[in-house]
Amino acid sequence: MGDLMPELSRELDTPTFRLVVAQFEQAAERLGLDVSLRERLKLPQRALIVSVPIRMDDGSVKVFAGYRVQHDTALGPSKGGVRFHPEVNLGEVAALAMWMTWKCALVGLPYGGAKGGVRVAPEKLSRAELQRLTRRYTAEIAPLIGPEKDIPAPDVGTNAQVMAWIMDTYSQQVGYAVPGVVTGKPLAVGGSLGREDATGRGVANVIVEAMRHLSLELAGATVVVQGFGNVGMHTARILHEMGATVIAVSDSQGGVYNPRGLDIPVLCSLYQSRVRPLEECGVGTVITNEELLQLACTILVPAALSEQITAQNADTIRCRILAEGANGPTTLEADKILEDKGVFMIPDILANSGGVIVSYFEWVQDVQKYFWNEQDIRARLHDILTAAFWRTLEFAKARKVSMRMAALMSGIDKIAQAHLARGLYP
Ligand code: NAD
Repeated sequence: MGDLMPELSRELDTPTFRLVVAQFEQAAERLGLDVSLRERLKLPQRALIVSVPIRMDDGSVKVFAGYRVQHDTALGPSKGGVRFHPEVNLGEVAALAMWMTWKCALVGLPYGGAKGGVRVAPEKLSRAELQRLTRRYTAEIAPLIGPEKDIPAPDVGTNAQVMAWIMDTYSQQVGYAVPGVVTGKPLAVGGSLGREDATGRGVANVIVEAMRHLSLELAGATVVVQGFGNVGMHTARILHEMGATVIAVSDSQGGVYNPRGLDIPVLCSLYQSRVRPLEECGVGTVITNEELLQLACTILVPAALSEQITAQNADTIRCRILAEGANGPTTLEADKILEDKGVFMIPDILANSGGVIVSYFEWVQDVQKYFWNEQDIRARLHDILTAAFWRTLEFAKARKVSMRMAALMSGIDKIAQAHLARGLYP
């Protein structure tokens, strides 16, 4: 990880950060990247740790740890989600920020990467507590964010309402409405049509291209989705609407399975009305998350958290296409095992980039104060993703590397070129 900043390196030294750095080092080696640039790019540009004290409904005060990390800003403002989860830590946030940099560069957005988070279980807070937490966290990271500086978005445990509170808190501080400070907002405050399901739509979009490449048909294809949240639910819904058979889905408590296909519209409406957990929905046979990952299927979509497919279980994975809805769901050791098994991998920074692409559209609309219709948004999303998929596949073939390596190398090379062109300040 480098001895440049020993204290920071110790804090960052977590499994997710080790994974992102190992991926970076492999790609940088293949690109022959300048050594000093490697030192710079494997650490964040800025990392802020904040205390977030809030008054609980019972009158007591609790303090939560919060983070905002900007990995790189060479191409423009940094962009990345805010995660509310009890296991959030600096290493995870820094890793997710680095993936955001490569993702934005890969699909051609004028952004660098960032990420933020609060170590909290949001489901244990009342709505009023969640609002106070969001507002205080926003006030603490306010020096870093802004429509020209760093633009948060939803991630695990946050949603459009949380984004509206961030937008309001920031706007109160500057004295006028600034919709462009966050994306993934409700339509009522400058959100974009098509943002809610953009990540899932993007996952489905690149799966369609991969099926075309492999000469497979969606009709008759079976789909397994781990994580039935924003990304997983919309991916399952859209693939179901396209004619695929979704045979299993799960949340953090476990999953449900039906080899003839689950009733996805019913599961989606249960999800939207917040009836949880899935295993209590009375749809399909109850299975564990471990069993779910081992089901034979055409398409497996991990859409929960990182490091779900590891050296321990990669050998038991039985899919033709692995489309990474989540960030970092597969470890490097598992990558190798899956490659040897002939699994076609659509790596996270390509597969789940639909979210940040439509976030970019939202920001452009906010800044220009001119809003597009949903048809335009879907068409532009489709064009960007389809082009990125085929570019990555061509790169992989030309350089004889995996799809993951091709995606990483393309993104990293763009950032390296930007740094070299701008030169070193001062
Ligand atoms: P979410 O909070 O809406 O949903 C997460 C889902 O995963 C929930 O159903 C939860 O119960 C489930 N889950 C949690 N732990 C699990 C476990 N151990 N096993 C199985 N399921 C588990 O979050 P989301 O926004 O859908 O994000 C999911 C993943 O996609 C994350 O890795 C996130 O970084 C990534 N992602 C999200 C977006 C976005 O636009 N929301 C964009 C790109 C990538």
